[in-house]
Amino acid sequence: MTTRAPVSLWDVSSAEAESGAAFEVPSDTADVAIVGGGFTGLSTALFAGQAGLSAQVLEAKRIGYGGSGRNVGLVNAGVWHPPAKVRAALGKTYGPRFLKTFGDGPGLVFDLIEKHQIRCEPTKTGTIHAAHAPSGYADLKSRHAEWDRMGAPVELLPRAEVAEKIGTDAFFGGLLDHRAGTINPMGYCRGLARAAEAAGARISTGVLVTKLRRTGEVWQVKTDRGTFTARNVVLGTNAYTDALWPRLSRVFTPISYFQLSTPPLGEEAAHILPGKQGVWDTGPIMFSLRRDAEGRLIIGSMGTVIGTKSAGLSERWARRQLRRLFPRLGPVTFEDAWHGRIAMTPDHLPRVCLLNEGLYTAIGYNGRGITTGTIFGKAIAGLLAGDDPKGLPLPVEELSEVRSAPIMSRLYQAAFTTNQFLKSL
Ligand SMILES: Cc1cc2nc3c(=O)[nH]c(=O)nc-3n(C[C@H](O)[C@H](O)[C@H](O)COP(=O)(O)OP(=O)(O)OC[C@H]3O[C@@H](n4cnc5c(N)ncnc54)[C@H](O)[C@@H]3O)c2cc1C
Repeated sequence: MTTRAPVSLWDVSSAEAESGAAFEVPSDTADVAIVGGGFTGLSTALFAGQAGLSAQVLEAKRIGYGGSGRNVGLVNAGVWHPPAKVRAALGKTYGPRFLKTFGDGPGLVFDLIEKHQIRCEPTKTGTIHAAHAPSGYADLKSRHAEWDRMGAPVELLPRAEVAEKIGTDAFFGGLLDHRAGTINPMGYCRGLARAAEAAGARISTGVLVTKLRRTGEVWQVKTDRGTFTARNVVLGTNAYTDALWPRLSRVFTPISYFQLSTPPLGEEAAHILPGKQGVWDTGPIMFSLRRDAEGRLIIGSMGTVIGTKSAGLSERWARRQLRRLFPRLGPVTFEDAWHGRIAMTPDHLPRVCLLNEGLYTAIGYNGRGITTGTIFGKAIAGLLAGDDPKGLPLPVEELSEVRSAPIMSRLYQAAFTTNQFLKSL
């Protein structure tokens, strides 16, 4: 454990302690070396350990340092696209399988939390996709009809009902997904690490992987603390991918998401999200709102923190939004402000890539990583244990670059900053 600035509110409020032993260069060849200590890497380690494989996780900073310890904590079912669009993109074999796996995704996460007694403040009261405009409500109606036909427990909320559930009449309706819920994401991440260690995986933090080289049947895994060999390597580096594997940082467009949290609020906020559902909206520049176990309000949107938790553009934006949504709340202060990176793909679907023999990655989660990282970690561990790749929820692809990513990333950042500015007035 190191002393350092927390990466988010969750870093401080998580009831799960940090894990990770001092790194000792493995003397035996590991079945799998896993780069990255987030949901993907740790889920891979947990399921690999349970399958009897020897797994070594290598995290450059510490558990949950990337998106996993910084996110909103919405455990959502499905992906951004409505089911019909997923089916159209993935076809007859993978489309239905993907929808089933990702529809059941929150169940997998909540079952792991239960099984391993992970202390991460789980609420299973659903999440609400809230309509920012009448057009947003029309979209939610059609999503509702699709999921409903598939038998999913989703509920369309007219304006008055969404007002009651969120505590504001600012939204035009909502879609309540009973499969979903919220967690303290750092708590979940640390709990996965604890469970993976109990399953026999070794987890080392503060170890930067600097080079991967295939020699014969194994990989030479070079780190800043020594080199060892592994039969397989899994890259769980996602939006925090560095220069380790050529071109991998170019398969996605990096964008940012920021959040501010209030101190625990008392009676004055009792009317806000009394059922503790997490909220995100249908707006083109997404907005999120949730509460934590201690009654804090956590509000966020796309972009980076500009200024600090107590002064500057983001603080003005957050104060303005809360005043607009909840005029009864009165003035608020903020206890924390942070942001993190999200890996967007052009079609808003994640990727599983075979980069070389025995070298896998799952990447490009488009801001849906709690279920996605858990699902793909489990699936990749299954592959390494001998499962048929044809059983995956997605076909294994080769790496394909998004040439426009650097320019798109800059354009998005400019749009998000403008949005913060306009909505802080
Ligand atoms: C602000 C924000 C809000 C979000 N909200 C939600 C949400 O509400 N719900 C949801 O489902 N998803 C959400 N997401 C997305 C989700 O957090 C990510 O998709 C998920 O955390 C990705 O997990 P991961 O394990 O693949 O990667 P990460 O958690 O990003 O982990 C990658 C790790 O790799 C390490 N690493 C990189 N290179 C090396 C190297 N060379 N050697 C060693 N280690 C290395 C990094 O230090 C990092 O810790 C959000 C993301 C952000 C940023």
